[in-house]
Amino acid sequence: LEKAYSFMLRIRLPGGVSTSEQWLKTDWLADTFANGTIKLTTRQAFQLHGIIKTNLKRTIKEINDVAMDTIAACGDVNRNVMCNPNPFLSSVHADALQAAKDISAHLTPATRAYHEIWLDGEKVQTSEDDEQEPIYGKTYLPRKFKITIAVPPSNDVDIFANCLSFIAIVEDGKLVGYNVAVGGGMGSTHGNEATYPRIADVIGYCTKEQVVDVAEKVVMVQRDFGDRTDRKHSRFKYTVDDHGPEWILAKLNEYLGYNLEPVREYKFTDNGDRFGWVEDETGDSHYTLFVEGGRVLDTADYPMRTGLREIAKIHDGDFRLTANQNLMIAKISKEKRPQIEALLEKYGMAKSHERSALRLATIACVALPTCALALAEAERFLPEIVTQLEEKLEQVGLRHDSITMRMTGCPNGCGRPFISEIGFVGFGPNRYNVYLGGGHAGQRLSKLYRKDVPASEIKPLLDPILEHYAKERQEGEHFGDFVIRAGYVEKTIQGGDFHKN
Ligand code: SF4
Repeated sequence: LEKAYSFMLRIRLPGGVSTSEQWLKTDWLADTFANGTIKLTTRQAFQLHGIIKTNLKRTIKEINDVAMDTIAACGDVNRNVMCNPNPFLSSVHADALQAAKDISAHLTPATRAYHEIWLDGEKVQTSEDDEQEPIYGKTYLPRKFKITIAVPPSNDVDIFANCLSFIAIVEDGKLVGYNVAVGGGMGSTHGNEATYPRIADVIGYCTKEQVVDVAEKVVMVQRDFGDRTDRKHSRFKYTVDDHGPEWILAKLNEYLGYNLEPVREYKFTDNGDRFGWVEDETGDSHYTLFVEGGRVLDTADYPMRTGLREIAKIHDGDFRLTANQNLMIAKISKEKRPQIEALLEKYGMAKSHERSALRLATIACVALPTCALALAEAERFLPEIVTQLEEKLEQVGLRHDSITMRMTGCPNGCGRPFISEIGFVGFGPNRYNVYLGGGHAGQRLSKLYRKDVPASEIKPLLDPILEHYAKERQEGEHFGDFVIRAGYVEKTIQGGDFHKN
């Protein structure tokens, strides 16, 4: 008798945008083949958990039927391209989303193997030369590669934590081009100081017509110069660190055959989501729903998954997954809005964001029991820690002050904990390294504050700091800036000094 192995499937959604039909199919798959829940990931993808091996092929076929796939959702290639779900300027979002789709399509491996294996595609006779990927070559990339597109002032896709990012430059309400940022990344390994998170460098500007070409050539630079001898040193952030951003720019210009222009002015104010209703320039409405830990499920007192299914049945706009694991029901017409408002009310989602600002600014990776790399809990434990800290926040008047807080089960950092103002990274069962001092807009790395803290000691550790912050913060000062000024941690300038205290 074969063991009932179960699997996780990650469904790629360029720019995090899903149609209602795709939402309904994913919801059905969650019930039929997975564990009855949908995980919205920190990279704007769907994850389905608990799919038993014998149902894998059928599930992938069903996914493909609604024009979604799992190609390159894993592996040493470009992953899901993220895009700001901007609800304010529909035309800018449309342009940025199109760029995300174009880059994603251009960098998707050309191999037919996926179709042959999972979709019963016909085996094509190929020579060795045919089998070479046009961009990835014979050997693909040294490691996975992550791309994002942000629309300032929101840095909700965390451009500084990604290999390659494009920062939209908007003039007179129109998207004209992008600043190019290279060399961000989160993963590190406990006890190995040669591994570290790194903040991306903004190296130049390209027009919107050049964006796919620039993405391709940056990938090629990593293909040709990334370290293939040591997987712990093979992410693009190390290539940028080893050679320096100036060298990367020069090499990129050489590959492009033209020069990037100088960086244009931009400003990020935060990396969180804007919850509730927003109306855009066209008169369409968008509703952003808080989804704790990105887990869409039904409970006895909060039937969120059922509510979203009912909305998807009548919604003719789209669903946008945010990089903070929340969900925007987007492009709701004036005519449809009353119906959707009624459904949000009926299923308890109309006030999803009436929580503490701390809870709204949390991210947790899957961790236990799903991720084999997890050393500690994250998604199942972070809500509890927030509840513990909320007592103090209420007491000292910080309920409405946003502090970014993230927890991951291991230092791979899928929830981008090293750029949050408070970060918890699993060290062992019920034990966490606690990091402080990340930038409120995700623009600065944090620093290790306490190592190997038992879960039960997190509240006593942080309560006094929160109280201190409430009493002595300066006008407009964010928590991450305060803990540096008050001397709790040293400021981290770049990955190289992440481990230095
Ligand atoms: Fe990623 Fe580690 Fe969390 Fe697993 S436990 S999802 S590898 S950060």
